[in-house]
Amino acid sequence: MNRIKDFFSSFLLIELVKGMMLTGRYLFARKITVHFPEEKTPQSPRFRGLHALRRYPNGEERCIACKLCESVCPALAITIDSEQRDDGTRRTTSYDIDLTKCIFCGFCEESCPVDSIVETHVLEYHGEKRGDLVYTKEMLLAVGDKYEEQIAKDREMDASYR
Ligand code: SF4
Ligand code: SF4
Repeated sequence: MNRIKDFFSSFLLIELVKGMMLTGRYLFARKITVHFPEEKTPQSPRFRGLHALRRYPNGEERCIACKLCESVCPALAITIDSEQRDDGTRRTTSYDIDLTKCIFCGFCEESCPVDSIVETHVLEYHGEKRGDLVYTKEMLLAVGDKYEEQIAKDREMDASYR
């Protein structure tokens, strides 16, 4: 019985007709292709993109070199060196994130006691040669300075969930 059914099915090109019907259905459906970069898809307020180091309004860097982010990072992507300043406070002398290792889990951000290391909404960055995606302290502070307004707004929106 099955063989007869298969014979008529292939003789009458049933599978082909089914395929064409599916194609026809999508031919008139609303198109969802996005013309990136001119058009962008909606982004979650909790999107985790490029990292940034933040400063306080007086310009002082927030990071106190506690190294919690370095120890919690599952990808071992963060490397920190630090020293004590003359005033007795501790600050980083170098803070590197290797974005080729980072899995954008957000643990560094969650662990930071002073809201220093954060992940911004920036996703359009790239590297052209080896080492370009190792972000140094200066690069991370520059990202923080550039996007501070947006970062502060996102933190405020998320405050009741943290
Ligand atoms: S987002 Fe996750 S993997 Fe990336 S640096 Fe932070 S802790 Fe490490
Ligand atoms: S960024 Fe935050 S968690 Fe990491 S060393 Fe600095 S203060 Fe500590």
